Amino acid sequence: MRSTLFIILIFSGLFVFPQIAEHKIFPPVKSSFDVPILAYHRFGDNRYRSTNTSLDVFEQHLRYLKENQYTVLTFGEAFKRWKNNESFPAKTTVITIDDGYSSFYENGWPLLKKYGFLATIFIQTDIVGHKDFISWAQFAELQKAGIEIQNHSDLHDFFVNYNDAERAGKFREDLIKSTALIEQNLGKRPEYYVYPYGEWTKDMVQVLKETGYSAALVQNSGLFCETSDPFEIPRFPLGGYFGTFEELKRKIGLKALRIEKTIPDSPFLSQNPPEIRVEVLPGKVNLKKAQFFVAGTKCENIKIIDDPNNPAVILKATSPLTARRTLYTITAPSKDGKTWHWYSYEWIRPEVGE
Ligand SMILES: [Zn+2]
Repeated sequence: MRSTLFIILIFSGLFVFPQIAEHKIFPPVKSSFDVPILAYHRFGDNRYRSTNTSLDVFEQHLRYLKENQYTVLTFGEAFKRWKNNESFPAKTTVITIDDGYSSFYENGWPLLKKYGFLATIFIQTDIVGHKDFISWAQFAELQKAGIEIQNHSDLHDFFVNYNDAERAGKFREDLIKSTALIEQNLGKRPEYYVYPYGEWTKDMVQVLKETGYSAALVQNSGLFCETSDPFEIPRFPLGGYFGTFEELKRKIGLKALRIEKTIPDSPFLSQNPPEIRVEVLPGKVNLKKAQFFVAGTKCENIKIIDDPNNPAVILKATSPLTARRTLYTITAPSKDGKTWHWYSYEWIRPEVGE
């Protein structure tokens, strides 16, 4: 009787076989890794406090990485290790710098050299060489010295503000232009992208894939790990409010909370406050002790489904979100209590100005 019902369900299309998410098939991974990717913008430029990291703090970061024997890879080196199924040193990190401000060339780069580290810069192409921005000749010099130069758009537009019909076209136009400018001026085609303002949608991911990009990074805090989606790789911001030594120490020892999927999986709200179900991969996490934060403030509205086969949390802020971008963050201790695992999800309200 039971098998008859099963056959009927299959042939009627009502039975859906469990699907493995695409990002978990690519790339194949034999070992797990947790790589915190650090995100900086400006160095020693107090005019812009929200994106600046003071030189004292930046040097403390670099000294800490050196003294604690971190291996600092460029993003491309880290990505290729993952893609080629190679293992990572126990303590690995990646330094990324967005936008291409002169303060990196003048202040940040000499400190990196002093500690013998490399970094990856994601540049906005239409502003290269303008006042306070690095020039193409300087980028060529940095590239020659081992700094990786990648793409962060031509116009740094708010692509999510375009409607669904326009967005992919606008994004493609900008992406083709910025890709060509980098290739023409530096002789290498960029392969990796940082979304302007960390704002992205699935149709932008599709355009990146069609244009030959291999990965893209977001601004959601979290760690790059073997189950990351290559087009949603998280980073920890270390500028502005987060530009402290304590912040680096807090974040660098974390592990990724590994996610099977989220429902919904769009950054746009269909209700406010929005609710999300985050399905966690079974593993080393003590989900019973998970904590939920809305824009960094602890929220008690978390429902924990501690099912060993299908663990999940259901999260919903207690009041409507008001900012343009708001992070829902979950942290949970490992079962041995030694480390915390971290994941965040970004909501975007395009109708709200920056
Ligand atoms: Zn930017």
